[in-house]
Amino acid sequence: MQTKKLKIIPLGGLGEFGMNCMALRWEDDIIVIDAGLMFPESELLGVDVVVPDISYLVENKEYVRGIILTHGHQDHIGGLPWFLNELKVPVYGTEFTLAYVEGNLEEHELLDETELIEIAPKEKFTIGPFTIEPIRVTHSMVDAVALAIETPVGVVIHTGDFKIDLAPLDDRAFDLHTFAEYGKRGVLALLQDSTNVERSGYTPSERAVIPRLDEVFSQAKKKLFFSCFSSSIYRIKIAMELARKHGRKVAVVGRSMMESTEIAQDLGYIDIPQGLVINPGQMKDFSPEQLMVLISGTQGEPMSALSRAALDNHKFAHIDAGDTVVLSSRVIPGNEKGIFRVIDHLSRRDANVVYDDGSNGLIHVSGHGSQEEMRLMINLVRPKFFIPVHGDYRILRKHAELAMETGAVEHAIVIEDGDVLELDKDEARKKDKVTAGRVLIDSGSSIDVVEDLVIRDRKILSEDGIVLAVLAINKRTGKMELPPEVIMRGFGGADITDQACEVMMKTLDELSSEQKADYGMVNEKVRVELKRLIQKTTGRRPMIMPVILEI
Ligand SMILES: [Zn+2]
Ligand SMILES: [Zn+2]
Repeated sequence: MQTKKLKIIPLGGLGEFGMNCMALRWEDDIIVIDAGLMFPESELLGVDVVVPDISYLVENKEYVRGIILTHGHQDHIGGLPWFLNELKVPVYGTEFTLAYVEGNLEEHELLDETELIEIAPKEKFTIGPFTIEPIRVTHSMVDAVALAIETPVGVVIHTGDFKIDLAPLDDRAFDLHTFAEYGKRGVLALLQDSTNVERSGYTPSERAVIPRLDEVFSQAKKKLFFSCFSSSIYRIKIAMELARKHGRKVAVVGRSMMESTEIAQDLGYIDIPQGLVINPGQMKDFSPEQLMVLISGTQGEPMSALSRAALDNHKFAHIDAGDTVVLSSRVIPGNEKGIFRVIDHLSRRDANVVYDDGSNGLIHVSGHGSQEEMRLMINLVRPKFFIPVHGDYRILRKHAELAMETGAVEHAIVIEDGDVLELDKDEARKKDKVTAGRVLIDSGSSIDVVEDLVIRDRKILSEDGIVLAVLAINKRTGKMELPPEVIMRGFGGADITDQACEVMMKTLDELSSEQKADYGMVNEKVRVELKRLIQKTTGRRPMIMPVILEI
């Protein structure tokens, strides 16, 4: 009788969107699938990123054999620097994924000490008791794979993120065949991407945006600004090809956009003809209708190139009346305010802004499969146990119901972060729980980890105090109506309070009146400048809360 069990332990992404991370354990061997991050909601003041709590992995350090990445999106790789601070293990990923990881690790000075192992579809590799075959899938990100993991009790397939794009722009076809073969041989468990379970039908191919974008290009009279996620290599490729077709030179603006374009070009995903791309500084040598500016900042991030251009605060990217700005991405919930603020600024400059408002054809498509693609995959794989991954509880629950309706699975099981699911050949059972949760990380540091928002706030308040910076701004003129006021608790003194007021005055003085009208930007600038001053003069890191009063 077999008593040993396979353990499936989600540590992130099951019960929320983002920070995907899943551990698989057989006896004394653990492998980890993905190490993602999540961007914090705006109420988490001063927190830059959120990563999964990996106490379980840290407690079992000596058994963790490696981290395997499905693709290069931040919600799958972005937590790596924090993981690798605690766990010195090799990282497995496809060529493109590792190219992204390298940049990420270099920033955190972890590149030299980390062993990166390249994997490829159809090339099996073994880690302890696990033999793993990457399987090609399609997604909005290039070079994405699913993982078929042979374990002593059967095969577990983790889809990673996917949609079934039957005409991918890079000709790397979705390997439906291999999924079907595993299905034929028998699959113990399928862990499938749940993201779009509420959408019926099929998700369109990445190509589906071409007709509408082509139209936008032919109608643009002056400069054309094209913004998308910098990781959307397919979208960048489409934009570049349309620029060439419509006789426009391409200037790439924004750090992330430049890095992405470079990697994609190096690895052969985009083929840039000689002379197509110019330096941003050369833009002045061309007339507006000869230019396309590929620019980062499609989510209205306050310091991004597009946000700065919208406020006429960018060295090279100037937006003039009659220019066209395309935001080829979706409005991520939570970012609406920032995005619409940027669109307002652009509209005020009389630019023609084209964004995903649901009208006039597609300028963006999702990277995740809809219901029919989910059903298709389940029918190919025919797993004994179906486990939805990636999403809020309601989404996971729906996905489990969808799976049962196919008639192709025996059991669908909803598990959440921290649950331990034990499997053998015949049974799957939720056992105990391990520590799981969110870890909040403060800017500029890879070790500055804080456990829980409440604990973090209390700690900061008790050790470093709080600073309230009150500004009264006239909404119409953008002028400060009263001298700024600074309230400090937990530390302080007349000296530092005076200096803080000065810094605030100076910060506001340096902003254009348009920038002043953008409270998101004022807020962020004041916070950063005060943080710098207080850290320099007192060595403390208090909680800083700018309060802007509109008069
Ligand atoms: Zn993804
Ligand atoms: Zn994802």
